Amino acid sequence: MADCIFCKVVAGEIPATIVKRTDRFVAFRDINPQAATHVLVVPTYHVASLEQVKDAAMLGDMLLFARDLAREAGVAERGYRVVVNTNPDGGQTVYHLHLHLLGGRFMGWPPG
Ligand code: 5GP
Ligand code: ZN
Repeated sequence: MADCIFCKVVAGEIPATIVKRTDRFVAFRDINPQAATHVLVVPTYHVASLEQVKDAAMLGDMLLFARDLAREAGVAERGYRVVVNTNPDGGQTVYHLHLHLLGGRFMGWPPG
């Protein structure tokens, strides 16, 4: 999608620190990290938010991709949080589906 910043990250048109890439998903460091480990995971095709997703298998695989990243980052044993902000009240600001993988500190509850 032409004006989507995460499509541009996937395409290599804007710089990002890529952590892992497959033909289906790209993981890269959040530009404004909220924890020592703060990685975004996006599908390589454009889908605006969780509300638009039809492909359940893609969602499951994306979640396992994030789980594997947590292990590789060394935060899995202590713990981590995976977040999908959806639409305005969910705090979504970039409308290309993404998981936040947050780890390396204690995550409070409830979130802000
Ligand atoms: P949302 O609020 O939509 O759940 O999360 C969007 C996230 O994308 C935010 O945490 C924000 O810091 C991050 N972000 C926004 N623009 C860029 C960018 O150009 N590059 C990277 N790496 N992260 C971005
Ligand atoms: Zn996109």
